[in-house]
Amino acid sequence: MTDRPVRTRYAPSPTGNPHVGNIRSALFSWAYARAHGGQFLLRIEDTDRNRFIEGAVEAIMESLRWLGIDWDEGPDVGGPKGPYFQSERLHLYREAAERLLASGRAYRCFCTPERLDALRAAQAAAKKPPGYDGLCRAISPAEAETRGKDEPHVIRFAMQREGVTVLRDVIRGDVVFENALQDDFVILKSDGFPTYHLAVVVDDTAMEISHCIRGDEWISSAPKHIQLYEALGWQSPEWAHLPLILGPDHKKLSKRSGDTALLDYRDRGYLPEAMVNFLALLGWSLDDHTTILSVEDLTRNFDLARVVPNPAVFDIERLNFLNGHYIRTMDEKRWVGLVGEWADRGLPPSVPRPLDERVIRAAAPLLRERVTVLSEIPGMIAFLFTYDAPEYETTLLTERVGAAATAVRVLDEALLRLDALPGERWTPEAVETALRGLEEPLGMKLRKFIAVLYVAIMGRPTGIPLFDSLGILGRERTLARLRAARARLG
Ligand code: GLU
Repeated sequence: MTDRPVRTRYAPSPTGNPHVGNIRSALFSWAYARAHGGQFLLRIEDTDRNRFIEGAVEAIMESLRWLGIDWDEGPDVGGPKGPYFQSERLHLYREAAERLLASGRAYRCFCTPERLDALRAAQAAAKKPPGYDGLCRAISPAEAETRGKDEPHVIRFAMQREGVTVLRDVIRGDVVFENALQDDFVILKSDGFPTYHLAVVVDDTAMEISHCIRGDEWISSAPKHIQLYEALGWQSPEWAHLPLILGPDHKKLSKRSGDTALLDYRDRGYLPEAMVNFLALLGWSLDDHTTILSVEDLTRNFDLARVVPNPAVFDIERLNFLNGHYIRTMDEKRWVGLVGEWADRGLPPSVPRPLDERVIRAAAPLLRERVTVLSEIPGMIAFLFTYDAPEYETTLLTERVGAAATAVRVLDEALLRLDALPGERWTPEAVETALRGLEEPLGMKLRKFIAVLYVAIMGRPTGIPLFDSLGILGRERTLARLRAARARLG
């Protein structure tokens, strides 16, 4: 255990819109800092210029902000250990590389890309693991120094060749790596940019990171980092490699199984608190039974001791469940606001703006029990905002009741009874009584034939509660839509 003040970081590469799996690392690092009175940093690892994507830094910050993850130091807010873009810290990596050269733990490598390709091919043919064979280690430092003045080269770290390197991982315990299986990796590229391995060690040290909490894909790099710390005489942080996230098929999470950009989930109508709750439980738990937890539960109680090493399963059904839960339990005012916002965003431009606030307010409680993701809202209430009958395939009218003749009888009977209900008595209760009166003459239960009415009114066989909807829609529009449906059936 370290007695250093807790400082954690999220260190994304700006290679696109961060995916949910990656954001889980940010969430855990942040929660650890917050739960232990520490600080959380955002550092942009932009040393791979070929993979840099315009707008990615903004997308990273927007993703974090959406979830309520704040950072004490970072590219926008600055801080005492900045700059927080690696591309602005190149001199630090060069200094570290020079120190390693001077102490004999690094060397200049002049191997051409062609030689490295040939080496890789030969290793593949011999079914040997790929890796640099250490050829340039044999060049004397003096010769290398001279050649280095005008020959393109990289700087490689000289790994220990004997013995083992032990990763003491808070989550996994000790993981032992045979040094003989490691190779001399590049720390500084020919363009003067560091590789991730050198940069992460230099920056985590300079930024006084106490806990390196990152995805499990970095475990195999850990021996490189541990040896770099040793060679530079620096204290390594505590290591915590988070469990893999698997898709519902128990295969590595892929785009198809849900590992898409976090912001896509926002745009599809997931709530940030549902997402935080969902991501928090991908590998961590509060206790052995809590499934609903708030951001405060997380930032108060998060501990690496309750992160399990075995893979977590990304189950979209669980996220849907949580989203529905937060929709049903949020306060009324926020819910009405969200309904208005999503309706405004999703209803066609032909619907006049601003949207009728009374309709929004009346529809909001009806939507609560039925919406899983907010993007469903416009489709479910579009019928309340139009004067014309909705568009639908005529076959939808008859689908649930079988015969067209039955649908005709349903519509005729409904028209008869609702026509008899005067405007001043037009309430959801009165509408319900009138429509329940159909059960007897039709000789079937309401739930059998109600789909016909749904389609006529909303253009879809199910939706928000019908009687309340007709209450909002009013007598004239209701009768017009039933007549239009009847006319379609001839
Ligand atoms: N830049 C690395 C990434 O994009 C950071 C890994 C780490 O957290 O050390 O995943």
